[in-house]
Amino acid sequence: MNTQSNAPHRSYNFCAGPATMPTEVLAQAQAEMLDWHGSGMSIMEMSHRSQDYVAVAERAEQKLRDLMQIPDDYKVLFLQGGASLQFSAIPLNLLMGGTGDYLTTGAWSSKALKEAKRYQVLGLGQVNEVASGLAGNFTEVPNPKDWRVSEGAKYFHYCANETIHGVQIHTAPDVDAPLVADMSSCILSAPIDVSKFGMIYAGAQKNIGPAGLVIVIIHESLLGQASQWCPTLLNYQHLAEKKSMSNTPATYSWYLAGLVFEWLEAQGGVESISKVNQRKAQLLYEAIDNSDFYQNPVAQPYRSIMNVPFTLADASLDKKFLELSQQAGLLNLKGHRDVGGMRASIYNAVSMEAVEALVAFMQEFEKTQS
Ligand SMILES: *Cc1c(COP(=O)(O)O)cnc(C)c1O
Repeated sequence: MNTQSNAPHRSYNFCAGPATMPTEVLAQAQAEMLDWHGSGMSIMEMSHRSQDYVAVAERAEQKLRDLMQIPDDYKVLFLQGGASLQFSAIPLNLLMGGTGDYLTTGAWSSKALKEAKRYQVLGLGQVNEVASGLAGNFTEVPNPKDWRVSEGAKYFHYCANETIHGVQIHTAPDVDAPLVADMSSCILSAPIDVSKFGMIYAGAQKNIGPAGLVIVIIHESLLGQASQWCPTLLNYQHLAEKKSMSNTPATYSWYLAGLVFEWLEAQGGVESISKVNQRKAQLLYEAIDNSDFYQNPVAQPYRSIMNVPFTLADASLDKKFLELSQQAGLLNLKGHRDVGGMRASIYNAVSMEAVEALVAFMQEFEKTQS
């Protein structure tokens, strides 16, 4: 794999989201900004119904289908409202007077459950929390043997990668109900078998790039069952029929997502980037585990490949760590307020060199401060 480019070196950005984008993609967007492919206008200024734009949109969808090997009986939607609006769309489309099962493994799956419960109160169906990792401060995933799964559940919702707590479920849960997975922070980071899922959704601003876009991949059998109270713009069947253009989509974000998909293809695709991701995560976790100065609280099998929270044994050094790391061009390492300490988000667009620079900085900081 060749990640060399002529693009200028920038700082290393470890932000959880909106997150770093491939420099090559930003450079291409810059070059195309004023006059897209001789059209005389920016892609941003184009009608979403124009032939040129529709071709850009369709190409982006096809690239994603190729990268993830999405079977033909799935719809791919490019929507707005972020992953968080899907927390409402899911019960409104799929609950249908039945039960929705929810596994809670961190902040995001907790929010999805909380939102779904509002629709239980409205009488749209039952919402059942099968298990929660809260008692263990979300440092591991409850054992599947202890899950209280409902008979005949309409769906089973979980978060494949908890961006804040750094907890990842690396293999899809083995349950009877259609799996609905929040993959906002791990989509395209490693190969998955899409056919195991009823629905996958992901806000684009983590591992794809531009904010303002959420991608929904949904099996056709789950369409057409929405509650009568479901807003038209959240109704998956309607959105699929209109090819995500019921109203004006986030045209620029959709275009940028397409460029990121092409970049990923040029890196060798998902299989190839997943090996780099494994090496990046391994390097960082080893650096943390081989030191008493840094800690990661997450149980080994559930450690995230994408978001690595870590704390300093002496929290009074946090401020200094952040100041010096920023001076060294290592940006956005401050941890989420719910967890404290630091967090390095090492998505696809964060290079091996970035992680090496971070590890070198951590080792130097430990040496000089302890
Ligand atoms: C960021 C994130 C969300 C929320 O995304 P928005 O697009 O801001 O609504 C939901 N789930 C996960 C796993 C996330 O990382």
